[in-house]
Amino acid sequence: INNLYKTFNPGTINEKTVLNGLNLELRPSDFVSIIGGNGAGKSTMLNMIAGVHFADEGVITLDDVDITRLSEFKRAKYLGRVFQDPMLGTAADMEIEENLALAYRRGKRRNFSWGITKKEKEEYVELLKTLDLGLETRLTSKVGLLSGGQRQALTLLMATLKSPKLLLLDEHTAALDPKTARKVLELTEQIIAKNSLTALMVTHNMKNAIEYGNRLIMMHEGRVIYDVSGEEKKKLEVKDLLAKFESASGGE
Ligand code: ADP
Ligand code: MG
Ligand code: MG
Repeated sequence: INNLYKTFNPGTINEKTVLNGLNLELRPSDFVSIIGGNGAGKSTMLNMIAGVHFADEGVITLDDVDITRLSEFKRAKYLGRVFQDPMLGTAADMEIEENLALAYRRGKRRNFSWGITKKEKEEYVELLKTLDLGLETRLTSKVGLLSGGQRQALTLLMATLKSPKLLLLDEHTAALDPKTARKVLELTEQIIAKNSLTALMVTHNMKNAIEYGNRLIMMHEGRVIYDVSGEEKKKLEVKDLLAKFESASGGE
């Protein structure tokens, strides 16, 4: 992401510059946790990567391809997305195996059909076993019967089935109780490592931001104001991040 600018409602009393010369370069297999105050532009950054909004200025490239003007639809096959609300990622009225089929076959088949073969069932069972939530015995259960944590785990699995170039997680455990959130974060870490995915994970929880990922960035007023990885990141404590945050938003 090179020098990205975004102003909402330009020329009105609601004008708001949200991304303000944002720069971010990801290395392959980076798992980046992203923190920053409310309104720092975290979700907007993810939305701009996904093509929900277009840039006023600046360039977004993915594997050396300029995607700045590519439609949301065209980008979708390169990106996996999981949002905060567990209701968004899966279809409640459909069975677990139907949800998986939808994710699994997306873009692979010209003529989509709901006939799920025995071989596919076996594959789904193996995939679901990796979640360790017992879902492999419930292939024909309606997703609406699952808990929020189970739905987020399933969403995560579905988001990774198309081998995305980039996985975008926007506070995907914020709606879960702490124990379930931890479980889903552990799964997130495992899935990212196993598939060598590159991922951006927004979180409000500074402890989680330190614990998960190889890299951490802090955003403030539409820019990255802190970027740390490797050993230096592991040594961080919440109070260090709070201090950074205080000094960035000093006087506000
Ligand atoms: P964060 O995720 O860091 O909390 P957001 O990126 O969601 O922040 O929002 C940053 C600012 O942009 C907020 O003030 C928000 O109200 C505003 N904003 C986000 N999306 C829109 C939109 N589609 N139209 C107008 N303002 C928006
Ligand atoms: Mg917010
Ligand atoms: Mg947000």
